[in-house]
Order: sequence, then structure tokens, then C-alpha cells
Amino acid sequence: TVKGSGRNGWQFYTREMQQNSEYRHALLNHLIIAVKNRKLATYYQPILDLKTNRVTKCEALARWQKADGQFIPPVEFISLAEESGLINKIDLLMLENAVQALIKINQKGRNVGLSINVSPRLFHTRDKALETWMECIKTLSQKINITVEITERLLTDDSEKALSVLEKLKTYNVKIAIDDFGTGYSSLSYLVKFPVDIIKIDREFVEKIEKESSAETLIETILVMAKRLKIKVVAEGIETQQQLNFLVNNHCDFGQGYYLGKPMSENNFREFIFSDSLIADKS
Ligand code: C2E
Ligand code: MG
Ligand code: MG
Ligand code: MG
Repeated sequence: TVKGSGRNGWQFYTREMQQNSEYRHALLNHLIIAVKNRKLATYYQPILDLKTNRVTKCEALARWQKADGQFIPPVEFISLAEESGLINKIDLLMLENAVQALIKINQKGRNVGLSINVSPRLFHTRDKALETWMECIKTLSQKINITVEITERLLTDDSEKALSVLEKLKTYNVKIAIDDFGTGYSSLSYLVKFPVDIIKIDREFVEKIEKESSAETLIETILVMAKRLKIKVVAEGIETQQQLNFLVNNHCDFGQGYYLGKPMSENNFREFIFSDSLIADKS
């Protein structure tokens, strides 16, 4: 089916959903209640330093299980939340959850940072949501290393506003990552115009390692370019040892993917962090 087929399925997906506007409406109502009652869960996916094989940070990912037990995939409810503006509340909730969880972990002698997604929508709101989120980041960044993941879309839509917000974030020592790098349509000049610290190579490219030499060439080129620009690189969606080897051989800084660790509940992530063998095994 078309659901979950990601950005390539978008066209399809909206058409299907339009035919299903009643379903969408009902789903949104459930989502509003779930957010209000803080029923969305935060999952944590490890991001490893590929030189040391240590978990240096994790990405916080929203998970929603409806009251009737049904799991709704993020591609489905995040897009719904973005259309309705509810996403701002979700992004704030994920931030609060994640920082609480990581402070507990780091109190036990670890230093795991947080990589958090933020919708471009937040940067364009006129209400207090952006202010609240910025205040929250400012306070939390004193306790934890925070990376904010944005998409290229943000930097093309309203770039003056985005630039001022990003520069403010930099004064809090927050790092800026470009998520899904390579899948947008913006020009590369934004890499120097905006204070970009990290790029995350999209899974679309990583999954073609050892299958399509053109994808490999692209990744090699991104890595060389990033090094020259002093930007760090995270490879997303690593699923095999072969992909990992290719990335390590080409000096990719960080890795994320099912092969290194799936998104996990807070308890499972804590266990993962405190069992070094799991991590050391992947060398
Ligand atoms: P993303 O930010 O690019 O997150 C990475 C996605 O790739 C996650 O999907 C993760 O589960 C998946 N992934 C990681 N490693 C692998 C792998 O090895 N193989 C495969 N097949 N997939 C892998 P997820 O959790 O379904 O989230 C989808 C998207 O929804 C995210 O993409 C992000 O754009 C958005 N999202 C999720 N949580 C939030 C949130 O709290 N706020 C906002 N604004 N967006 C969110
Ligand atoms: Mg992300
Ligand atoms: Mg990503
Ligand atoms: Mg991605």
C-alpha cells in the first residue's frame, strides 16, 4: 500500500487521504487528545561516533499508539500535525521528554547528547510557540548537548527568519543539523549562508551502497565537501556491515541505523547505553 512509502509516496498519499477526509478528521481529533494528555511516546535511536564506536548522542523520535492499541506511523501523524499546527506542541513535548530521560542517563556517568527534530512550521508561527520552544532549548542546553535537526525546506521558505533563529540557537551552543540531506531541491549555498554544523545523509543514498556506484560517488563527494567546509556528517539508515564499512573507509564521522541500533523506548535505550558490549561488537 501507499502508506509509509515516505516522501516518494506523498502524491499518492494525499490523494488517498483526501478520499478519506473523515478518517483524517477523526485521527486528528484523537491526536489532539493524545498530545493534550501527553500520550505520545519518545523513542531514542543511538548515533555512534564511527571512530570510537561509542554512542555520542541519540535522535528523539515520536511514537503514537492510539487508545485502541493501533500504532500510527510517524509519516502519517506528523504530516497531519504539520497541516494543523499541532506539530509545535509535539515538538515541545518530545524535547521535554527527551531531556528528562537523558538527564537521568547522564547522571550515571554518561554524556549522551540529544538530536531533536523540529518542524519548519515552528519557525513560521506567530504565536508564542517558537518563543516557548526557544526558552526551553536555552535552559536545557545548559544541561545537555543539543543538536536541532532541520530540513532544507526551512532554509528556502523564509530564510531571513530562519537565519535569525538559527543564529540565536548558536549562542546557546546548540548544533544545527540538516536532516535528509540530498533529498531537497535547495542550492548548496545555504551550507555557507547558514550556521550548519552537521549534515545527515539520507537513507535513500546509504541503502544504495554496494548497489549503485553513482550513489557511492555522491556519498564520497558529500564527505569530501563537508570536510572542507568543516561540517560533520551523520549517515542515516545503516542496515548492513557492508554499508558501515564503506562509510568508515570514507571517514564518515557518525552513523545511525537499524544495524547500529533501532529506535528504542526509554528503558531499552538506557539498557543499550549501559551495556558496552553491544556497542563494541559492531567494530
Ligand atoms: P527522520 O528525522 O529522518 O528520522 C529518521 C527515520 O528513519 C526514523 O523514522 C527512523 O525510525 C528511521 N530509521 C532509522 N534507521 C533506519 C534504518 O536503518 N532503516 C530504516 N528503514 N529506517 C530507519 P520514523 O521514526 O518513522 O520517523 C519518520 C520521520 O518523522 C522522521 O524522519 C522525522 O522527519 C519525522 N519525525 C519523527 N518524530 C518527530 C518529531 O518529534 N517532530 C518532528 N517535527 N518530526 C518528527
Ligand atoms: Mg531527524
Ligand atoms: Mg533523518
Ligand atoms: Mg531521513
